[in-house]
Amino acid sequence: MSERVLILGGTGEARALAAALVDRDVPVISSLAGRVRNPRLPVGQVRIGGFGGVEGLASWLDDEQISAVVDATHPFAARITAHAVAAARRAGVPLLRLARPAWEPGRDDRWTRVPDVAAAARTVAERGGRVFLTTGRQDVDAFADVADAWFLIRVVDPPVGPLPPRHRILSSRGPYDLAGERKILAENEISLLVTKNSGGELTRAKLVAAAEAGIEVVMVDRPAEPEGSARVDSVDGALAWLQARAGAA
Ligand code: NAP
Repeated sequence: MSERVLILGGTGEARALAAALVDRDVPVISSLAGRVRNPRLPVGQVRIGGFGGVEGLASWLDDEQISAVVDATHPFAARITAHAVAAARRAGVPLLRLARPAWEPGRDDRWTRVPDVAAAARTVAERGGRVFLTTGRQDVDAFADVADAWFLIRVVDPPVGPLPPRHRILSSRGPYDLAGERKILAENEISLLVTKNSGGELTRAKLVAAAEAGIEVVMVDRPAEPEGSARVDSVDGALAWLQARAGAA
């Protein structure tokens, strides 16, 4: 492969792809937004912070002579994904979207699907009860006005915005195992789990534990993504795409 690859990261898949490319001696730069205080850094070269919108990213791709971009950002990081499509088009650089498959409900799952976090907050306000909120720090403020529920709020870094009146913060970083998730649900007498449909194995155990306990899940569906890039759902798929491009060059 004679590439110079930019990986838009912040996910386990992005780190795994960076490691695989470094192993193969492919020049790669991973980019992180800089949202969490102590991010898990990928191997290889890393840059941290926004690019300054579509324009900034397009010029950066030019300046750094990037030959391919892999957008391996989280399925809910909609803005950077849209920027990647527009900037790659502008800079004339091929773009691949790597996004893990969404979770699908099984027979024992009790999911209420909602289109966004605001709708999740409305559903929680209707249900009340004891809520395990796992949507991430940036989305907690959507629940700030929900007074009729108690929240266990799991976050990597403490939230900065307004919080619901009755809550406890649980600071921790995945992956989470089934035994631990069962314990959290039982000890906190959780009656409702709220999550985004992030997909992947690292945070799936909470869904299994909720299904076992017959707990309802408010599942926030993924935002729509723009057309304009090839798509794969695994690191192997991304490696094959890069390999095929290098072979064709
Ligand atoms: P976002 O709303 O889609 O993007 C907001 C802005 O942050 C972008 O316009 C861009 O700034 C900057 N940005 C985002 N990802 C970047 C990256 N990988 N490298 C450089 N700049 C980036 O993003 P978000 O939802 O805040 O997520 C931020 C990061 O956290 C993403 O990298 C994502 O993979 C990771 N993450 C997000 C979630 C989630 O639930 N949203 C969960 C886990 C991990 P400029 O316009 O200045 O370029």
